[in-house]
Amino acid sequence: MDFTELANAYAELEKTSKRLKKTYIVSNILKDTPEKELDKVILLLQGRVFPQSDERELGVASKLVVKAMAIATGHTTPQIEDLWRKKGDLGLVAEQLCEKKKQNTLFSEQLTVAMVFNDLQKVASQEGIGSTDQKVKMISKLLSMATPLEAKYVIRAALQDLRVGIAEGTLRDAIAWAYFKEADPGYDLSNDSITPINRETYNEMIDMIQQALNKTNDFLVVAKAARHGIKELEKIELAVGNPVKVMLAQKVNSVEEAFDVVGRPAALEYKYDGFRMQINKNKNDVVIFTRRLENVTDQFPEVKARVLNCVKADSCILDCEAVGFEPKSGKYTPFQQISQRIKRKYDIEKLAETLPVELNVFDILYLDGENVLSKPFIERRKIIEKIIKEVPKEIVLAKQIITDNDKAASKFFDESVGKGNEGLMFKNLQGVYKPGSRVGYMIKLKSSMDDLDVVIVGAEWGEGKRSGWFTSFTIACRSDDGEFLEIGKVGTGLKEKREEGLSFDEMTDLLKPLIKTQVGRDVTVKPKIVISVKHEEIQKSPSYSSGFALRFPRVTVLRDDRSTDDIISLVELEEQYFKQRKK
Ligand code: ATP
Repeated sequence: MDFTELANAYAELEKTSKRLKKTYIVSNILKDTPEKELDKVILLLQGRVFPQSDERELGVASKLVVKAMAIATGHTTPQIEDLWRKKGDLGLVAEQLCEKKKQNTLFSEQLTVAMVFNDLQKVASQEGIGSTDQKVKMISKLLSMATPLEAKYVIRAALQDLRVGIAEGTLRDAIAWAYFKEADPGYDLSNDSITPINRETYNEMIDMIQQALNKTNDFLVVAKAARHGIKELEKIELAVGNPVKVMLAQKVNSVEEAFDVVGRPAALEYKYDGFRMQINKNKNDVVIFTRRLENVTDQFPEVKARVLNCVKADSCILDCEAVGFEPKSGKYTPFQQISQRIKRKYDIEKLAETLPVELNVFDILYLDGENVLSKPFIERRKIIEKIIKEVPKEIVLAKQIITDNDKAASKFFDESVGKGNEGLMFKNLQGVYKPGSRVGYMIKLKSSMDDLDVVIVGAEWGEGKRSGWFTSFTIACRSDDGEFLEIGKVGTGLKEKREEGLSFDEMTDLLKPLIKTQVGRDVTVKPKIVISVKHEEIQKSPSYSSGFALRFPRVTVLRDDRSTDDIISLVELEEQYFKQRKK
């Protein structure tokens, strides 16, 4: 398959912000993709060359791309950098510079999807002495063969910043449109609308694909199965060791409201303030994932040992909250205190002693070869009660009561908060486990105003003695279409020194490799770094693209365990804005 086909699709996707039109474009490219190229196209559509579960990184920095362009186009580095400053995007720079070498392209080989994909994978595998030169060589070779439009997207793919805006939901729907006649959307290009023959069947098909995605967390596996029909899709199952998207909770403001959603009686549990751990046990193998499904097994050797000692199952997938506590007093500590355990790659044994975590197991998804997602919650709880040998401060079951009574619930809430927890979870006794969904089977009731999880999209270099650091950060929420919308700037909350907590220089180190553009002291960065922010109030504001701004925002903690999917959405922000006004 020629890379031009994909580049044309990227270009069309970039031109429109309409979600249905995007779905249409992606579904067409999927229809046109031969089976043996499907893996490459699916990944390239997501702007990646490795599946999410693969930890390999492309490792291509902007500087390296500039060098490759210099070789391929014969321009000098300063010329290219000057153009980069003007255009703000190396993809556009590559497109413009390649215009001039049109003549050569006529005689050179046609770039294919396989060439771009394989070469980018090879770029990632270059390591050690001379690897930068090798990477430069490979990218410049691709550029020298590319048409201007192809060059634009080769460069953006290499930088892992496609800028064509394909949200996960778009790719999911496109798979249904491409492969299921039953899900024919009846898309009308002229007025960008759909009229499926049978709306119910259409929704069912989309839901089926979503469920398969939730179980595998892998578009590739799902697209391949869907291509062969519904039967293949239905065969997709949970597998121990494969991360599964976790079920999420809805939020309420009172005990009555919580019961209204989950029904009475309900199971009430402490809402611990730690971070989520999905633990996969397969015989003597234990793999631990965070909520964003990052593998953190190596960071928690003590957890692995405990699971092997205390979980009586051959294979299982457990859902838990890992909570930090003070080693001497045993008192729970907030998430901030243990957040460094997620990323730290050295002194792990020592850290396990100074920042210990207790596992609070609250759910199970899989047991000894059987998927237990569709068993009611009350039965799943019985399973964990049976298979877990509790050892306080190591591994315990989430503290639970079952009640239909408001007063008992309020008392349990106070007890939980008194012990340093965030509040309570209310759970529907009959609720099934829906991976990846924020369905109303699980409700959270918290004691205080929420910190908001947001992503950093820009920053500003400081001045004077802080001139080597970023000191102000532009933060954003997400739209339903996967766009990032600004909600203000934050500079307070960060520390001067690393020993004191999240510091300006640590943040600078995190953001520097993500810089996309720089104008004066302001930079824009790839949206990757998620932080929690406290605020006094949400206000309407024309200054930011979301239409809202936070009053007195303050950074509280880096959320290494969260991805941009987990940040606050515009809809949730609006809800919170109206709720706060009512109060
Ligand atoms: P929050 O910021 O309020 O924790 P969230 O966006 O992280 O919310 P939600 O799914 O909305 O995540 O809230 C539930 C979270 O609470 C879970 O992800 C889990 O990490 C945590 N939690 C703590 N105790 C429990 C419990 N007993 N049962 C389920 N989840 C729990």
